[in-house]
Amino acid sequence: MSLSRLPEPALRADASGASGSDKPREECGVVAVHVPRPTDMAALVHLGVFALQHRGQESCGICVAGGDEIRIEKDMGLVTEVFTEERLDKLRFAAARTGIGHTRYSTTGSSLRFNAQPLTVRSNKGLLALAHNGNFTNAKRLRDEMLGEGAVFQTTNDSEVMINLVARYAHLSLEDATARVMGEVEGGFAVVLMDKRRILGLRDRNGVRPLVIGAFREGGYVFASEPAALHVMGASFVRDVRPGELVVADDDGLHTRQVLVPEPTPCAFEWIYFARGDGALDGVQVHASRVRMGEILAQEAPAEADMVVGVPDSGLAAALGYARCSGIPYDIGLYKSPYAGRSFIAPSPHLRDQKVRLKLAPTEAVAGRRIVLVDDSIVRGTTSGRIVQLLRDAGASEVHFRVSSPPIRFPCYYGIDTAARKELAAASMGVETIRQRIGADSLHFISEAGLTRAIGLARTCLACFDGRYPAGTPDGASEKEQLEEFALD
Ligand code: SF4
Repeated sequence: MSLSRLPEPALRADASGASGSDKPREECGVVAVHVPRPTDMAALVHLGVFALQHRGQESCGICVAGGDEIRIEKDMGLVTEVFTEERLDKLRFAAARTGIGHTRYSTTGSSLRFNAQPLTVRSNKGLLALAHNGNFTNAKRLRDEMLGEGAVFQTTNDSEVMINLVARYAHLSLEDATARVMGEVEGGFAVVLMDKRRILGLRDRNGVRPLVIGAFREGGYVFASEPAALHVMGASFVRDVRPGELVVADDDGLHTRQVLVPEPTPCAFEWIYFARGDGALDGVQVHASRVRMGEILAQEAPAEADMVVGVPDSGLAAALGYARCSGIPYDIGLYKSPYAGRSFIAPSPHLRDQKVRLKLAPTEAVAGRRIVLVDDSIVRGTTSGRIVQLLRDAGASEVHFRVSSPPIRFPCYYGIDTAARKELAAASMGVETIRQRIGADSLHFISEAGLTRAIGLARTCLACFDGRYPAGTPDGASEKEQLEEFALD
């Protein structure tokens, strides 16, 4: 058996600040594969994590198993930076039939190398590997209990709590232990877990974070955060893992167990912004729902204008919907540089404004025009103000800002970094004050009812808009206490 050395802490500083992003950030993407015959599993999982890169850009990892062997490679950085051909070769061996992969942006645990996933642990069930997306709201209490019983932790993230809980049930099979633990951890999460013979995938009872099942024509299964990963790996979509469901894929096929009574409230932001547009989650096409958000925005907040412009890339689908519904022509008013990625680091603080200009440039089409500018969200408002100014500098006569999410007023406890509450523009300012701050001629957000109608599910999590947390708040504190705590910021 070969297993990479336990990672050392803090090899590289947090790179997230280099993004200049003023968007909520997804914490993680996960993928797990089991096939009946040995294959180049490292290459297969590598494709999957690459397709999920948009769900986490700070660290990534792949764990591969089969026969008597299990290997893991993980590090800080993008998938293309970490997984060189040389590094993928270290994961290759003849018997490989099972693998999991992970891309991470951290909201719990700092973004240090030792927190990169997958996590592995030697247990009475053999060597287990786990990767997760989301947060366990009772992780601190569970960790404290286990520390009191003498457990040792090597990381500061939630995944280690779950993998230790699973390993603790020595008398139970891996499936039974995992099912038991599903009833103990709380919050919003999707988890993939593996040993040398099988993969397991599960969602919390609310199905807050997504997880889908795919199948290979030659046999074998894949679990992934989004259908985008299935497509690139050559698997076909089977269905979503249901809220509260545990699914196992092994040589006998797919086995499923509805462990918890489902109370579906998936994250609305997956459809607003996070998920890639080329797929469906919980039966709802992502791109089509974004177009509907734009259509509903046009009904709720019409504008007298000459042209509809979407902020690339995340505002384009809603802009299309706004244009179709309003009859105002859609045009490309902002061009996005394909090279201004996360790795750019502003040379000095007074050049921070240049980041938006590096990324976006107005086209000549906006000159002399009244613009409806559509974006998916306003977090701090700083970037929105700079984009409005870009359009004005290019000659736009009016800029009417429309947003395809309601105002973000509350933090997310389920794996999304919405920024600290004191940094959220809508937490402390009304719509009119934000309008003045960003310099728009008018500003409207889609209503919560309009958003729900656009997604089309009976219920979704809207907690960052309305403060009502369907999967609870951290470590048993009441919502009111949590909100009061934040109000003191
Ligand atoms: S609080 Fe917001 S970002 Fe977090 S899961 Fe709920 S809808 Fe999604």
